[in-house]
This record gives sequence, structure tokens and C-alpha cells, in this order.
Amino acid sequence: MIIHLKASVDRSQAEQLAETLKAIHFEQEGKFVLVTSSSVKSLPEMVKAYTDAFWVSDSDIQLASKHYRDEVRTVQLGDVQIGGKTNNTIVISGPCSVESEAQITTSADFMHGLGIKALRGGCYKPRTSPYSFQGLGLEGLQLLSKMRDQHGFTIVSEVRDATHVDDVIEHADVVQIGAKSMYDHGILKACAKTRKPILLKRGFGTTLQEFVQAAEFILSGGNPNVMLCERGIRTFETKTRFTLDLCGVAWLKANTNLPIILDPSHALGYRYGIADLSKACVAMGVDGLLIEVHPDPSVAKSDAAQQLHHDEFTKLLGELRPVAQAVGRSIV
Ligand code: PEP
Ligand code: MN
Repeated sequence: MIIHLKASVDRSQAEQLAETLKAIHFEQEGKFVLVTSSSVKSLPEMVKAYTDAFWVSDSDIQLASKHYRDEVRTVQLGDVQIGGKTNNTIVISGPCSVESEAQITTSADFMHGLGIKALRGGCYKPRTSPYSFQGLGLEGLQLLSKMRDQHGFTIVSEVRDATHVDDVIEHADVVQIGAKSMYDHGILKACAKTRKPILLKRGFGTTLQEFVQAAEFILSGGNPNVMLCERGIRTFETKTRFTLDLCGVAWLKANTNLPIILDPSHALGYRYGIADLSKACVAMGVDGLLIEVHPDPSVAKSDAAQQLHHDEFTKLLGELRPVAQAVGRSIV
């Protein structure tokens, strides 16, 4: 159950009520919100006098549910807003990893030239092998900050584990939680304390319920700025790297109030079909796309097979605009 307390309830009263009800509490627009387990189905007597409004939930998808808030939440990404009444579909692109100053400068200059507002690059890479490139760490984050200073980008970078989550929160404008990290409570709790937007990726073996419940950890910690990212799940199919779950996206759109970003790059894993898949994603009317692009994919230190060449990305961007327009949206 979600309980909006009256404006007259102060912090210590909210804390006391939360303790008695075994509820989580957080502040939202100057008022306190309590969230109990969804098994609570009627408003407890002792909180009635302090309550403005309450919502009974049928599962622990509560703050993220359409039942609580019908409209998709707005999230501010630099000077671009997504969700809410906007019809924006933001393109977040850049290389899989920040590899060197020369590489990220070339990428940033290219993206800026195309009018891309959100530059992505990983600095802490959650690799499958310990022998592969693990990312430049803090040095990479500093290079991304330099690109922001030069071009005004919104910087998106991923966190791999809780040891460096504060560094990513400090240097990036959007914190990406990777598919392999989305269950890490140290990360989720740190991301709940900031107000920076969080791009939460779905684990490739994660149900929709578990995925949105991970988002609930961030929302119930007081950070309302969460975006859900579908990036492909593991199925029996081996010809493609993962399977982009567009059925799941339809479910998320119908049942949650969080903006949705689609990542065709990691789903397919190969560059040949990224353009087709991106168009399908835009046609679904989602809030953003995440596409990996590298100045020379043949030498990329991670995800080489899926990153688009610059000319492929330029062509794709041109093709996405009319698709977006056809479904009443704008590519930003
Ligand atoms: C990435 O975005 O480069 C990445 C590693 O993604 P995922 O966590 O979805 O595998
Ligand atoms: Mn990648």
C-alpha cells in the first residue's frame, strides 16, 4: 500500500508511523510517502488521521505502477525531457567502452555534429571474461566529463559494482545499471539516494516482475527519476545474442509509469540488423533508444560485432525520423 501523508506531518512523525507500520518512507515534493508491503489491503486505523490519499496494490510493483500514477513520469535529461506529455524519443549513443582520449573525442565530435544530446560510454565494464578489457575506470569518467564540457552532452555511463557507484554518480549525468548488476542492492540503494536519472537495464534472465521490483528499490529510496531499459533476454535461440522482448515492452507500457528505453545493440549482438530493430523500437513509441556506435568497430575493445560504423549510424538516424513521425513522436 502507498500512503501519501498530509503536508502537516513532519519528518519525525513520518518516521514513527513508518516504524510502526513496517513501511518504507521517503519525501516527495515536501510531503512524506509511506509504502508498506502490498499484502496490506486496508488502511491501518492508526494512520487514518495523517493520510491524504492511499493506493492498494496487487503486487510489490507499487510506485512504478499505472494504478498509482497513470501518466508516464517525466525525466529530465539535460535540456531534453522524456515521458509525461512529451512525445520525445531520445537517442543515446556512443561506443560500448571509453577506450582512449582519441577514440572518445572522435565519437563525441561525430555525435555532436549529428545533434545527438546524450553520449554514452562505459568505464567499468561488466565483462564475461576476466581476461578482456575491463574499462578505463575513473580516467574514462574524466574523459567523458571533458566531452560534456566541450559539447554540452548528457553523459550516460554504467556502474558495474558498488565500489565505484559514487564515482559514476559524481561524474555522469545518467547512471546506467547494467544487466548483470541490476540485482546489486549496494548499487540500487546508492542510486536511490541521488536525484540523477537512473537507466536500469533488465537482466537477461530477469522476469518483468523482478525487473520492475528492482526499480522499486530506487523509487522507494526517494529517487523518482528511473528509466527502464529492455536489452534482450536469453532464450533457446543462439543465432542472435539475445532476444529483444518487445512483448515485455508492451507489458511495461501498459502497466508501469516509467519511461522505457530500448537497446537493440545488446539484444541482437550483431550490427547487420540494428537498423531494422531500431525502427521497430521507435514504432513502438518508446521514450528512448540506446545504440552503440564506434569510430572503428573492427578495433573496439568490447562489443565489436554490434557497434555501428559512423556512416551506418548517420543513415539510420535519417531513417528513424519518419518512423517516429508516423507514430506521433520526435527523435531528439
Ligand atoms: C553496455 O551497455 O555496454 C552493457 C554492458 O550492457 P548490458 O548491461 O545490457 O549487457
Ligand atoms: Mn556494450
